[in-house]
Amino acid sequence: MVNNWLNKIPSWLFPHRCVLCNAAGQSTLDLCIHCQRDLPWLDSTCQRCGWPIESSQSYRQCGRCLNQTLAYDRAISLLEYRWPIDQMVIELKFQKNRAHARVLATLMAEFLPHHYDNQSLPQLITSVPMHPQRLWERGFNQADLIAKRIAGLLGIPYAPNLARRTRYSKPQTGLNAQQRAANIAGCFECDLPNCESIAIVDDVLTTGSTTHELSKQFRKTGVEQIHIWTLARTL
Ligand SMILES: [Zn+2]
Ligand SMILES: [Zn+2]
Repeated sequence: MVNNWLNKIPSWLFPHRCVLCNAAGQSTLDLCIHCQRDLPWLDSTCQRCGWPIESSQSYRQCGRCLNQTLAYDRAISLLEYRWPIDQMVIELKFQKNRAHARVLATLMAEFLPHHYDNQSLPQLITSVPMHPQRLWERGFNQADLIAKRIAGLLGIPYAPNLARRTRYSKPQTGLNAQQRAANIAGCFECDLPNCESIAIVDDVLTTGSTTHELSKQFRKTGVEQIHIWTLARTL
């Protein structure tokens, strides 16, 4: 259930406007119902890796998962990384568009729990850390911004500094899957989370090499369930 103090501000005082088309937004969201409906939702996905599968498929794992070893237990992405999500993420990352962060995090908090049916949500939320030098250059970590808000909306504790980057790696953009894995190898260290299950939040899942590498480190701490929550993924 989405619940925070913003919901208590009367909508007539600060009416919500859609960040995409500027029409009237919804009661707790700067996004109109039409634009929300038109987003590139991933409706039917593999329960393990989040890759799209046929909705008629009774076995809920994809063929890729037969041949891949993932360090995490589940990856869930709500949307495909294409317009207008790509534009919103770029504006969030490079122009620090906080309205976009609010919208994206609210969507995640509302729709991610639908993937759990009767299962419990992870006990703790953290985010993919940024190297201090990158953080200094950009001024903020968009994954942290989104994760903090999701945690607040879902009422799950948030541990922002559980993991750290131990060395600076060049941006993953433009690298292929193998290069990405090599670029990010050995980049993280993390503290022992005092829980059995954890959700790691990031904005976009591309090849999954960053979250795989970070999950490997969390796995060493003995945490039992590692779930990756991303807003969108590239297909
Ligand atoms: Zn709209
Ligand atoms: Zn899969």
